[in-house]
Amino acid sequence: MQTCKKLAYELLGNRNGAIVAIEPSTGKIVCMVSKPDFNPNDLEDNWDTLREDEKNGPLVNRATQGWYPPGSTFKIVTSLAFMRENPLWKDYIYDCQGKGVFGENTIHCHFNKVHGEENLEDAVKNSCNTFFSEIAIQMDISKYRNVVDSLLFNELLPYPLPYKNSSFVLNGDSSVEQIAETAIGQGETLITPFHNVLITAAVANGGILMKPYLVDRIENEKGKTIIKNLPEFYKKLLEVEEAKTLTTFMKKVVSEGTGKTSAVEGIDVAGKTGSAENTTGVSHAWYVGFAPADNPSLAVSIIVESSGTSTKYAAPIAKALFEEYIKRDQEE
Ligand SMILES: [Zn+2]
Repeated sequence: MQTCKKLAYELLGNRNGAIVAIEPSTGKIVCMVSKPDFNPNDLEDNWDTLREDEKNGPLVNRATQGWYPPGSTFKIVTSLAFMRENPLWKDYIYDCQGKGVFGENTIHCHFNKVHGEENLEDAVKNSCNTFFSEIAIQMDISKYRNVVDSLLFNELLPYPLPYKNSSFVLNGDSSVEQIAETAIGQGETLITPFHNVLITAAVANGGILMKPYLVDRIENEKGKTIIKNLPEFYKKLLEVEEAKTLTTFMKKVVSEGTGKTSAVEGIDVAGKTGSAENTTGVSHAWYVGFAPADNPSLAVSIIVESSGTSTKYAAPIAKALFEEYIKRDQEE
């Protein structure tokens, strides 16, 4: 939909980053925007300038080729691994003191906030770092890795154009420090905004990932449709119950937790915020989510580079996209 693309383009403003939106039930890519961009019509004239701009890398499609630490959006993945390994996960309570020591490292919650006693749902809602570092060091790393790989990390993605596949490196030799960092989306894990929207869309779609596609139909010169892209099943990534539970958690993030600035009046939104620390010193703001939460028509993945908090820079973009897309959908 052109409107969604135009809006996404405007919402990123003059910042570098990417927005990908997908229809979870069909796999249709509604929009994919990467900035900085370039005008393909002027490519020949500007080729040298574009190619030499290593700092901004305008030729990289950040949506599919931008490799970022997932930050706290990865807590969705760690939650799934914890639930799969611990059938009694609902009974697990951790007492967050605002920071925790893991090997030689201290992991801090945002502003050292003391979250107190929390179960998994509370920890997702509060995006509590120490909770996730703690559960990860208790997990069997090979099982953790299997869950992560089952969500298409270190795997090929169903996409015909160039992309980078995501990387997750924990193994039996990983240190406590590495595990604690990885659980909260730091460490060495790298993901593209495109892969993050696929995971989000699978959660939104009861665990089923549909094959993403860019082109609705191809018409001949007379306007007659000659090829129509029909929705195609790709893979079951999660059990229905797992998808439902994660949706419940993500709804809480938006109604009561760190994702409030993505809330839309009259529509339930499910989301997860994230801030990815990086070498620039200013966090990349992440947001993944979908709406309406119980019958999703749009899943989004947003990253705004070196901007600051998700609450301020990424979640409001999701809100604007949900409002525009779902409102249109309802009017049609
Ligand atoms: Zn905490």
